[in-house]
Amino acid sequence: MPQSIPATLRDQTLSLLASGAVTSRSDLVDALRVAPSTVSAVVRRLIEEGVLEEEGVGRSTGGRRPRILRLRETEGVLAVAELGGKHARVGLCGAGGALRGTEEVPIDIAAGPEKVFGVVTETFARIQGSVAPGQTLRGVGVALPGPVEFPGGRIVGPARMPGWSGIDPGRFLSGAFGGGAGMPVIVDNDAKAAAIGEHVVRDQQPGDMIYIKAGTGIGACLVSGGQIFRGGRGLSGDVTHVRVADSGERQCSCGSRGCLETVASGAALARQLGSPDMNMRDIMVAVGDGDPTVVTMVRQAGRLLGVALTGLVNFLNPSAVVIGGALSSLDVYVAATRGMLYEGCLPSMTQSLTIEASVAGPDAALIGLGHLLRSSVS
Ligand SMILES: [Zn+2]
Repeated sequence: MPQSIPATLRDQTLSLLASGAVTSRSDLVDALRVAPSTVSAVVRRLIEEGVLEEEGVGRSTGGRRPRILRLRETEGVLAVAELGGKHARVGLCGAGGALRGTEEVPIDIAAGPEKVFGVVTETFARIQGSVAPGQTLRGVGVALPGPVEFPGGRIVGPARMPGWSGIDPGRFLSGAFGGGAGMPVIVDNDAKAAAIGEHVVRDQQPGDMIYIKAGTGIGACLVSGGQIFRGGRGLSGDVTHVRVADSGERQCSCGSRGCLETVASGAALARQLGSPDMNMRDIMVAVGDGDPTVVTMVRQAGRLLGVALTGLVNFLNPSAVVIGGALSSLDVYVAATRGMLYEGCLPSMTQSLTIEASVAGPDAALIGLGHLLRSSVS
């Protein structure tokens, strides 16, 4: 009789194997912290499903040599893309979700979905031509820099995406990629996709994680029990429009005043540096040059992010606050956020709290989309 196994255990097992973090049943026992009999049941079920195979001889650690577990190569590829205001990062994943190739291309998100997805499909075709020619497309995932409704994937009042409000990107994507009605299409917010990517790269550690995507704007996502916390309409995590003290009451892109975005984002730093059209790379260069005025600005931006997160940390008591996005490569920004959290939170909250920069890096959202899609195509 085939035994049913919990979906999360199945998912964790597949992710651990896909990432290469585990290669045997005993590795799985250690990584999942479950009984060997549970691992045996999961492995047996996945082998019966044809998803997994067990063969060969692994590293000997004395005693019986472990057999190697590996995912069966599934035919086909997944297209994934993360859109920013001026750039798109496009990637190709194997059907198992592992990222196999990426390319960054310039776009203008304000040009609207038709033009932007045209660039994305062209870029994907180029990547596929070099890493997986002739393979069937089995799913498409896109991460957008604005609030995305869940389920449904509609964009809701995006401040930086004129012409996108209320459109159904899933429909556009199916058309643009020539997928049939049955092809899985996932549309998610960029911070949510990146948070899941970070969770996967961190070997799906247990515990609750607040992930911050600090780029032109500031997005956030809570990952709890391995799942994205979405909230009632799917719009959770929009810290960029949280009002913060000491913000100078500047007008925000959302129409309100004094939002975190006006003081702690890449857009705010560009404005403070005197050229609002500066991109994130220009800001990195200015900080890298060590100009004390610029470093002070970045430190203050990081501190204000910390102010906005203090209440969240006290309320949620997470195990980790992870800062991703372009600004996370600036040590001074991450250190200032950390300092403010230590200063503003209850000591009992920060005692075992990890506050650090992302380990998944710029591919976090693409890795997350591959992971989310894998579950819907396998
Ligand atoms: Zn705002």
